[in-house]
Amino acid sequence: MTLSLKGTGISNGIAIGKIVAMQTGELEINEYALPKHLIPDEINRFRHALDIAKQQLREINQSIPDNAPSDISAFINTHLLMLDDSTLAQVPEDIINERQCNAEWALNIQQKTLVDVFEEMDDPYLRTRKDDVIHVVNRVQRILLELEKHPHEIPENKLRNSIILADDIAPSDAVLIMHQGIAGFVTEHGGTTSHTAILARSLGIPGVVGLKNARRYLEEDETIIIDGETGDVVASPDEYTFKHYRKKQRDHKRFLAELRTLRHKPARTKDRRNIKLHANIELPEDISAVKRVSATGVGLYRTEFLFMNRDEPPSEEEQFQAYRKVVKSLSGAPVTIRTLDLGADKQVDGRGRTGPVTTNPALGLRAIRLCLREPAMFLPQLKAILRASAYGTVKIMIPMLSNLNELSQVLQLIDEAKFELKQRKQKFDTKVAIGGMIEIPAAAISADIFANELDFLSIGTNDLIQYTLAIDRIDDDVNYLYDPVHPAVLKLVKMTIDAGRNANIPVSMCGEMAGDVRYTRLLLGMGLKEFSMHPSSILRVKKIIKESNTQELAPLARRVLRNGNRTKIMDLIEKMNNQNQ
Ligand code: PEP
Ligand code: MG
Repeated sequence: MTLSLKGTGISNGIAIGKIVAMQTGELEINEYALPKHLIPDEINRFRHALDIAKQQLREINQSIPDNAPSDISAFINTHLLMLDDSTLAQVPEDIINERQCNAEWALNIQQKTLVDVFEEMDDPYLRTRKDDVIHVVNRVQRILLELEKHPHEIPENKLRNSIILADDIAPSDAVLIMHQGIAGFVTEHGGTTSHTAILARSLGIPGVVGLKNARRYLEEDETIIIDGETGDVVASPDEYTFKHYRKKQRDHKRFLAELRTLRHKPARTKDRRNIKLHANIELPEDISAVKRVSATGVGLYRTEFLFMNRDEPPSEEEQFQAYRKVVKSLSGAPVTIRTLDLGADKQVDGRGRTGPVTTNPALGLRAIRLCLREPAMFLPQLKAILRASAYGTVKIMIPMLSNLNELSQVLQLIDEAKFELKQRKQKFDTKVAIGGMIEIPAAAISADIFANELDFLSIGTNDLIQYTLAIDRIDDDVNYLYDPVHPAVLKLVKMTIDAGRNANIPVSMCGEMAGDVRYTRLLLGMGLKEFSMHPSSILRVKKIIKESNTQELAPLARRVLRNGNRTKIMDLIEKMNNQNQ
């Protein structure tokens, strides 16, 4: 009998294949009390396991094919860095010493501490980085327990065209598995922003994650169908179901082929409006993905990722090297570098800040507020960005502005940074553009005031929605209220677009809404001309832009904005999306 299950789809596409089951995580770890004289041996055993883990990761790194996206080796390097970080290299040793326990248990304790820190984080991307901690710890524990058989040891021909079934897949294992011709994968854990999910998307491999108890319902060798878009998994499909999914698979392949042809075509609407399609990036390694889709530039470079997994913030020189790498590789196309968006809850290594834990971290000392409080951290970043501006087109973008006073403080610090560079005789673009993110309702309502003082605005819908609707963007209990087309959100977006137009400065949108194809036509109708999104969304959005006519969309968008009823708003958006223009 056909069995239908549902998880979370993380990469579009249909896979049909036989299951190869893998045991990757969920180790049973017990605590053992050790006599004092055995502690040095235990510490040596721990250090040896760390060395082997590093060796394994280096070997995996070397086995990555040349044509693989560069994000892949970035994952592995992140894991290597974590193994060298004192949180995993030193703290477990301290625990072994203090508790007189076995190394596996010490790692368990430290893993829990680190996971708790990550779970407290506001940013959904950073929160899922706890998976990296789990995967790295799991690798070391397996070595300690002499369970060294890794997924990549399964014979290659067994994996070809198969669907991997596992509790979870670490990105380092995913690198090996996904390059062995698998059709798709299903895991019990993991989320849409996990590294494994990102990897699957960049390789176009359909995957379903978070399918609880999948291994209880599905069996080795049985043929299943997975839909990486909807998260549907079908076991024992009947002939009708097979036909349905085979057609869907063919349609999807045709759609992808069509998208590829758009790569070098301009994002121009039917009424000949040119739209800018920029990419959001987190690390210099993301540039290869930006180039693969020929984005017109970088609309959001989230620099906080440079500050992750380390004890000390990166120096001005290190930041300069990273920013310059991105700027140079874009050969003149604009790179919008956002200054640090860290907050009390976003201390990526869980250390470094002391003082009371704030009750509402999202409303606390975050982003530009923190940077203004700590100029010793902020100034080196400003100098590094300015220095990078000598190598291409750089724009500086300030997150979470709420009033003009903050802006004038930032401008003063930028002047200070420029003055110092001049003294040092270092080059920079004296006319570097300075823009602000509109992510707080107060900033959107006063967008006209900001527009008079800035060179560009960028709407950060992720935070704008959170602050407008008073819903914590990481709290699952209020997730149902998170609504990009709430009339209040749309009004704020429109006010910002209009303020930019009146002041004759560009307005971009760089929150998730910009890459969500359901809203492309609505935003075009509202007058948005610049979008910035994850590179994987760019060609999809471009396809819609090319099929749209902004003049026909504008009256419908006005009707959406006049409406207060969500059902009617959704109906109008659907009408816009289905119109043949
Ligand atoms: C946003 O808030 O929409 C945004 C792009 O910034 P971040 O998601 O990094 O907070
Ligand atoms: Mg934001």
